[in-house]
Amino acid sequence: MNTLLPPQKGNRTINYLRLSVTDRCNLRCVYCMPEEGVGFVPHDQILSYEEMLRLVALSVQAGIRKVRLTGGEPLVRKGFISFLEKLSAIEDLREISLTTNGVLLSEFASDIKRCGICRLNVSLDSLDPQKFARITGRDYLHRVLEGIKEAERHGFNPIKINVVAMRGINDDEILDFGRLTLTKPYHIRFIEFMPIGKNNSWTSDRFIPADDILNILGTLGQLESVEHNSLDGPAKRYKLQGAKGEIGLIGAISNHFCDQCNRLRLTAEGHLRGCLFSDKEIDIKTPLRLGRCDEDLLGLVRLAIDNKPKGHGLVQTDPRKCVRHMSSIGG
Ligand code: SAM
Repeated sequence: MNTLLPPQKGNRTINYLRLSVTDRCNLRCVYCMPEEGVGFVPHDQILSYEEMLRLVALSVQAGIRKVRLTGGEPLVRKGFISFLEKLSAIEDLREISLTTNGVLLSEFASDIKRCGICRLNVSLDSLDPQKFARITGRDYLHRVLEGIKEAERHGFNPIKINVVAMRGINDDEILDFGRLTLTKPYHIRFIEFMPIGKNNSWTSDRFIPADDILNILGTLGQLESVEHNSLDGPAKRYKLQGAKGEIGLIGAISNHFCDQCNRLRLTAEGHLRGCLFSDKEIDIKTPLRLGRCDEDLLGLVRLAIDNKPKGHGLVQTDPRKCVRHMSSIGG
C-alpha cells in the first residue's frame, strides 16, 4: 500500500490539517475570545514548534497535503516566521495557508510571502472603526486595513476576507462588504455564526443563514455563480457583474458540508480533533512527550482520521455549543 495516498472516508479524502499555532490572540472578539472567562493553556502545555513540525511531517505520511495555520492569532507567537520556513520545507506538503486577523500583517506580509505562503485569509467583521472596536475589543481597524494593503503590495491574490455575519451586529454592513468586491480583487466570504466556546455570544437570534445573506447581496445586482474548484473548500462562490473580486458563502450550519469535509485539526495543546463541533479529541502530545516512536504517533493520526465523525449533527435551532473555544481548537 502506498502510505502517501490520502485516506478515504466514504466520499471524503482527509488531506487538510488546520493547525492552531497558539491559543493567544491580540483581539477579544465577542463571539470567539471574550475579554473575561477564557482560560489560556499554560505555555508549557502548548506544542513547541519542533513538536508541531514533527506532527505535521507525520500527518503528511498519513495523507495530509495542505496545512492551514490558525489559532488564536498565529502572528502573535514569537518565532512564527522561522517556524514557517521549516514548515515549508516539509516534503510532500503541497500547500500552506494562513488565517490571520491582520493586526500584525503589515509587519509580516513580506516574510510570509518569502516563505512561499500564497493563500491568505484575513478576518474582518466590520469596516466601521467603532463597530470594529466593539466586536473585537480593540481599536485596530486601521492596522487591519493597512495589513491588507501591505499584503496586496506583496502580491497576495486573492486575499480572502472572512466576515462572520451576526444579526443586529454587522448585518447592516453585508452590502458594504459586497460592494467592496466591485472595486477590489478580494474574495469576501461570509461565514455563518457558529455556537462554539462555552461563553461566546451565540444565540439563534444572532444567527443569519447563508441563504438570507445571499438574498441581501442580491439587491446589489445579479450574482453569477462561479464554478467550484477543488481548492475552494466549502464556500459557494458568486460574482457581481463586472466585479474585480468575489463573494463566498460558508453555510457551516444551515447547509453543512460534512459529507465533503476533508479536515483534521490539531489544537494548540496537541490534541487531534476530527470535527470542529465535537469535543472528542485524541491527545497526541502526551505520547509524543513520553518519547513514543514515529510509528506509534502515526497510528494516532490515522486513528483520528478513522474516527472522524460523519457529521456535526448541529441544526440552526439547536443551541448546543461545544465547550472548547475556537481560539484553542484552531478556527
Ligand atoms: N486569529 C485568526 C483570525 O482572526 O482569522 C485565526 C483564528 S480565528 C479563531 C479563525 C476564524 O474563526 C476567524 O475568521 C473567526 O472569525 C472565526 N470564528 C471564530 N469564532 C467563530 C464563531 N463563533 N462563528 C463563526 N466563526 C468564528
